[in-house]
Amino acid sequence: MPYEKVDVPADGETIEVVDASADELDVPNDPIIPIIYGDGIGTDVGPAAQMVLEAAAEATGRDINWMRVYAGETARQQYDENLPEDTLQAFREFNVGIKGPLTTPVGAGFRSLNVALRKKLDLYTNVRPTYHIEGVPSPVTRPDQMDMVTFRENTEDVLDMVTFRENTEDVYAGIEWEAGTEEVEQVRAFVEDEMGFDETIHDGAVGIGVKPITEFGTKRLVRKAIDHALENDRDSVTLVHKGNIMKFTEGAFRDWGYEVAEEEYGSEVITEDTLWEERDGEAPDDAVVVNDRIADNMLQQILTRTENYDVLAMPNLNGDYLSDACGAQIGGLGIAPGANFGDGRCLAEPVHGSAPKYAGQDKVNPTAMILSGKIMLEYMGWKDAGQLIRDAVEEAIKAKKVTYDIERQIQGGEKLATSEYARVVADNIRDLA
Ligand code: NAP
Repeated sequence: MPYEKVDVPADGETIEVVDASADELDVPNDPIIPIIYGDGIGTDVGPAAQMVLEAAAEATGRDINWMRVYAGETARQQYDENLPEDTLQAFREFNVGIKGPLTTPVGAGFRSLNVALRKKLDLYTNVRPTYHIEGVPSPVTRPDQMDMVTFRENTEDVLDMVTFRENTEDVYAGIEWEAGTEEVEQVRAFVEDEMGFDETIHDGAVGIGVKPITEFGTKRLVRKAIDHALENDRDSVTLVHKGNIMKFTEGAFRDWGYEVAEEEYGSEVITEDTLWEERDGEAPDDAVVVNDRIADNMLQQILTRTENYDVLAMPNLNGDYLSDACGAQIGGLGIAPGANFGDGRCLAEPVHGSAPKYAGQDKVNPTAMILSGKIMLEYMGWKDAGQLIRDAVEEAIKAKKVTYDIERQIQGGEKLATSEYARVVADNIRDLA
């Protein structure tokens, strides 16, 4: 089907999916990669990330052919809608892409475009690696001890963990009714009269939402987390839930998570119970231990026992909160990268939002978007390009050539604009190659 308002680059080839369930891709040396700059600071960090990713591709003998597509404000200008079919089609056709942040109005207005993109493209896993880059100021005294979930090497001096957040269900499913509507009163009547929860909801105005957590959604997320732990030689996967209170949703998430571990992985995976009952707490060298923690406890544990955790697997809302908390420990939103994955599909995106007050000022830190791009390149198998990006970012920060957010926290830093910082990182890549 032809695109309505965007052009496919004349040069470049398509990344083909060979085996979706195994995430096996056929990646040409000159792929076409769709990109959404996004709202607010997206127009600053998007081009900056492109500059760095291009430098890494060229330094490793490859070439990226960008296909700019639109969502949010820029889509409204061109298409008069928030999420045009052109954009969805591009990600479906080319399978691997990257996006900047998109603004979501609070309370009223349209629903989150980020959630819509993840659901429409069935990007059911949101992965956020958390590793500390030397020189980045951290609010914790020992960021070196954080080592939870990672896409990267696990060196001793690195804060290094990965969160796996379910992306398509939970309270993010968007099943909710506004106070004062006929619909919400119908739901209230159903809950109270037919389901027997009378005197549970206070009288007067109420908003009601539904929290679906399915066996299907849980198991495919936990599988991705365990596969990641096995492939990257990590020690543990922790199921983070609030099942003590929400027994049939978050409690079910925990139970289904353990079912996957016990029924699908044989001796490669061992549960914490078995570890203590049968092995006196001594984990086998080559097995991944699956355990679980209640979410509020986990928020403490990432601060107090960071070194005990590797990979966290969580329902959608827990994942949103916890991955931001982890990001704070490695220096905040300007640094924290992420990516969404489906089967044979990746859409990288930074953790941060559109920070409208800084939009268009060439001021904010593009590192989060750059490192999100690094995850995308690694998913494509370009590990050498990913390593160059990581090293080049580290060089810039070690030299104290940084954007405002880092500069305000260190002594003697040189404050650079977004584009200047990206040029420094791109130059570092060329020097390191
Ligand atoms: P935000 O846009 O992430 O910004 C919050 C603060 O974080 C900024 O004021 C800034 O702190 C810091 N920050 C964010 N990005 C930074 C960067 N690249 N470099 C340096 N500092 C950065 O969060 P928000 O204000 O809550 O959300 C704004 C909009 O973004 C909302 O509409 C929200 O829904 C949306 N959002 C979108 C996504 C997404 O697209 N995936 C994610 C989250 C939020 P200082 O002011 O201290 O400098």
